Amino acid sequence: MKIPAISIPIVEIPLEKNIRLFLKREDLIHLQISGNKYWKLFYNINSYLDRNPADPFLITFGGAFSNHIAAVAALGKEGHLKTLGIIRGEEIQDKWQENPTLKLAQENGMDFRFVTREMYRDKETLTQILEKEFPQALIIPEGGTNEHAVEGIKYMLTEETKSFDYLCTAVGTGGTIAGISKFAEEKQQVLGFKAVDDPSLYNKVSDLSTRNNFQLIEAHDGKYGKITDENIRFINDFKQKFGIQLDPVYTGKMMKTLFEMIEKKEFPEESRILAFHTGGLQGIFGANELLKKQNRELIRF
Ligand SMILES: *Cc1c(COP(=O)(O)O)cnc(C)c1O
Repeated sequence: MKIPAISIPIVEIPLEKNIRLFLKREDLIHLQISGNKYWKLFYNINSYLDRNPADPFLITFGGAFSNHIAAVAALGKEGHLKTLGIIRGEEIQDKWQENPTLKLAQENGMDFRFVTREMYRDKETLTQILEKEFPQALIIPEGGTNEHAVEGIKYMLTEETKSFDYLCTAVGTGGTIAGISKFAEEKQQVLGFKAVDDPSLYNKVSDLSTRNNFQLIEAHDGKYGKITDENIRFINDFKQKFGIQLDPVYTGKMMKTLFEMIEKKEFPEESRILAFHTGGLQGIFGANELLKKQNRELIRF
């Protein structure tokens, strides 16, 4: 894997306030490889390939709509690597073709194994079984979060990002915020917008980052993975106003919560805030399939 040749633009979201808000467009790296997923996989895959495996093979885990599954499949295709996705939920086995994320992953060459939710939860046993069966393979954890991933996130920070007071990202498994926290400047504060309810998250991020310059903020309205009408409306309004597409699981929730915090004057005047647009746009297709079935407003894409 190479460092993408494009330099990632930072654009201002005009607020007409005494606070300035900017978005760093990691989403532009690739439609199927969310910005942060690319960087999280960067060292993982490169250090594996450096060991010259005879028959390179990537295995990873995810739910049926997972941005991480989409990213690993797309990277596998670009790098001519075989990929296997361990997918949560046996019930999907017979209808995965209806799922846009899995369909695209399969078109990118990924094979699947569907496992029960109980088995999926017990990653340790699952990993042991896979290691035995595929001793040559690189087994990447769910969401790609590990120490290599944290190192890769360093590439999201540049000379330009040093001038901001706050760095914001959406949080799932915590690897992205851990990397931003680890490599942030001394004076910068890091805000993570939690899209998932995981009580161990703070300690996990803290262990990976080794710093305490970050805060975790609740950003889910309702349950993880749940898309409310309010959220859809925010995403559609945001696109109309600023011309930038957000996703329903991560960046839409982050920006909505960030706007609410700015409205409530939770940031000091003159603050310069940078939010990372981590992508996740492939998830819109699957979300819209669900919304269509429920006869609800769709995300405009
Ligand atoms: C996976 C993902 C995140 C969360 O990243 P973690 O490192 O798992 O916390 C944020 N935004 C998008 C778009 C993602 O796909």
